[in-house]
Amino acid sequence: MAVNIPAYQQIKTELDNKKVALVAVSKTKPIEDIQALYNLGQRDFGENYVQELAEKYEQLSKDIRWHFIGHLQSNKVKYIAPFVHLIHGVDSFNLLKEINKQGLKNNRVINCLLQIHIAKEETKFGFAEKELYELNQIHDTSTSSVHELKNITIIGMMGMASFSDDMNVIKNEFASLKIIFDKYALLSIANCQLSILSMGMSSDYKIAIEEGSNMVRIGSLLFGERNYTAK
Ligand SMILES: *Cc1c(COP(=O)(O)O)cnc(C)c1O
Repeated sequence: MAVNIPAYQQIKTELDNKKVALVAVSKTKPIEDIQALYNLGQRDFGENYVQELAEKYEQLSKDIRWHFIGHLQSNKVKYIAPFVHLIHGVDSFNLLKEINKQGLKNNRVINCLLQIHIAKEETKFGFAEKELYELNQIHDTSTSSVHELKNITIIGMMGMASFSDDMNVIKNEFASLKIIFDKYALLSIANCQLSILSMGMSSDYKIAIEEGSNMVRIGSLLFGERNYTAK
């Protein structure tokens, strides 16, 4: 088994001291590895693939809080809507509407984070700050506005820094997200109550916390490197 128990205990203590929540990113990892951390008290786990998440949900304890941290396609929301605890990567108004629709069908309110584009790379998904402003203004005929989607709650923001060795680049990107977060947190109304800032992964979580993150998503430090070809 590849789970690094001492690393988990050390990171967990470090994060508890700083009041930062830990999402253990278990994508591509077997059930036994998740169970090992569950047995130590870990309840928040993150997954990137809808199918894989749905299968793991079926097999594991129902008190696990499942975080969907990947890029979510609208046509797949229905598979995770009955149970998902928090969707991190919401990057369009259409996706918000679909999550709301599936929330309504399942008679629950689904927690969402808006993904904000902070990296230089084109490949990373998310709202640009300008689009965020527009989102806040949206009024369309089917829903009126984002604030009237009663089966979602936007509880925060999520961002990913550039893949870079330059600590200053990463630091500046996280800092820029914190500024946006603070600005919009003041606007909290109706179904928008921003309290969670999800930023930081294995390689950059310490910088993210220094820049104001209160939820980190850590995979490889806990579960070892991922082997995608074996999947
Ligand atoms: C895979 C993934 C992580 C975890 O990455 P590690 O480098 O293994 O810690 C965090 N966030 C997102 C969005 C991911 O896709």
